[in-house]
Amino acid sequence: MAEIIGAGHLAPIPDDLTIVQFMLDHQHSTRPVPPSHRPWFIEDESGRKVEFDEVKFRTNALANAFHLKWKLGEDDVVCIYSPNHVDYPITIWAAFRLGVTITAANPSYTADELVHTLTTTKAKLLVVHPWNLSVALEAAKIAKLPADRIVLLEPLPEKEKAAGARFTTVPQLIAEGAKAKKAFTERKLKKGEGKTKLAFLSFSSGTTGLPKAVKIPHYSLIANVVQIASYSQADTRPTEQRKIKSGDIAIAVLPFYHIYGIVVIMHFQTYYGISVVVTPKFDFLQFLNSIQRHRINFLPVVPPMIVALCKHPAVKKFDLSSMRFIASGAAPLSAELTNQLAKLFPKVQIGQGYGMTETSTAISFPQLEQHVCTPGSAGRLLPGVVVKVVRPDGTLAPRGETGELVVKSPSNAIGYLNNDKATKETFKDGWVSTGDEVYVNDVNELFVVDRIKDLIKVRGFQVAPPELEGHILELKDVSDVSVVGKPDEYSGEVPYAFVVPSADALERIKKDPAEGEKIKAAIVKHVADNKVNFKRLTGGVEFIDVIPRNPSGKLLRRVLRDRLRAQLAVQ
Ligand code: AMP
Repeated sequence: MAEIIGAGHLAPIPDDLTIVQFMLDHQHSTRPVPPSHRPWFIEDESGRKVEFDEVKFRTNALANAFHLKWKLGEDDVVCIYSPNHVDYPITIWAAFRLGVTITAANPSYTADELVHTLTTTKAKLLVVHPWNLSVALEAAKIAKLPADRIVLLEPLPEKEKAAGARFTTVPQLIAEGAKAKKAFTERKLKKGEGKTKLAFLSFSSGTTGLPKAVKIPHYSLIANVVQIASYSQADTRPTEQRKIKSGDIAIAVLPFYHIYGIVVIMHFQTYYGISVVVTPKFDFLQFLNSIQRHRINFLPVVPPMIVALCKHPAVKKFDLSSMRFIASGAAPLSAELTNQLAKLFPKVQIGQGYGMTETSTAISFPQLEQHVCTPGSAGRLLPGVVVKVVRPDGTLAPRGETGELVVKSPSNAIGYLNNDKATKETFKDGWVSTGDEVYVNDVNELFVVDRIKDLIKVRGFQVAPPELEGHILELKDVSDVSVVGKPDEYSGEVPYAFVVPSADALERIKKDPAEGEKIKAAIVKHVADNKVNFKRLTGGVEFIDVIPRNPSGKLLRRVLRDRLRAQLAVQ
């Protein structure tokens, strides 16, 4: 059986540019309008528009200041720990001017989680939003990052100023960098160097184990932008019928720290002449309000937002008539939900894409010529993508048959940082094993049937079961544990723990059954106190006699996942 190739023309992908040069300094054939054509970013609350010239000015001034103040340069790592903000991309692009690598942390991370990011990547500077300052300070102390290496993305509110006066802010740096003479030398790339020069270290647990830093070079990002742009340009229908077109207004409510936000929203949309309304937090009513206020046309979302659009009574109270295209990704969108959405919003075009941090990012994109995507399909393969659907015995499945999706794309990342073992398991000769069970039909539409890998996805966010298992095992009442995803209508899945109580705990439970509930509550609390909200055991905790393992000791998580599904089926 043959490999399956994404159809359509793929424009040439420059391999001698950094993504900032590609975005701000270069005129590529797939860019539909000159970059100065529209506002690039619009601050949701204030409505402040940041146009191309200002983006470029701020980027260059900040690069100058980063160089002058800290001599940031080749392969230094800057961590950005913030909700979405108009200066978020500017900070990233400024760093890239100097050859710096970015790691973007989830702004909801606890101090421990941020410490992991800082220490794994050896970050030299931490750029934080004032909302995140106290956690950032705690983490920086543990990671031994001096407080003068913390920069605020915007000034502290007036009442907190006294306490935070010692922190430099990005606007201050931009002013200083603009005033000073240009002192830095732009990091330029030799032919082909884009394929190895790192842009991002983005965290993902991949197919197994703990979260790891994925090495994403500049070429991978440029490639995915060119792939999506080439794909979008193949739609030659009259402009008003197109799903994706320059001049649109999109909403960036999905987080910038995640690869989907980085590639599709921060880079592809602005590149394609789509103005991006930058929203720091997802609150459904505010989201509806933003759509109404900014007349949003293009909505990149995750499935829980579609659940809310279908079910929340407030939807009727807002004028959502500007909505023209809803694109879902990061987790499965069922055929039922697609149909429900299509019925409720008959004028809105609906589509789905599929991607992964390790393929940075999109492998498939919504079918452009169909008003509503084929329900249940995760879009159509992008040009430049080649896939294999691999059966458990290693042979290739034909179209229509299921197997593990293995992908070769110019956008693929190049491995995990300092982890050869995991790199070898997932990245082989340019192919990435996704750990997703899929099939591809005759017209290159991708259908995700199941997830074979350990990963749990809660509202599109990654939860690595081994991370929670290690954490729960810290409790003396627990002798063994396995965490699986429990299906959930809103979140897609939520973490659920099978726990073997310790001998002592079992004795106490035997004497007093109420003790069992106390232990379960303590396990739930232990996770809630130390982990970001979406990792909480909201699915529940169940005691079990023994965690199933194979003869070599490997945990058989799938057995437990099937057991939970069977239990839920009879409820
Ligand atoms: P991440 O690296 O956080 O983007 O997570 C990638 C994983 O999310 C994929 O391997 C899939 O398991 C899941 N995923 C992403 N998009 C979709 C989709 N459209 N349908 C089903 N699962 C998806």
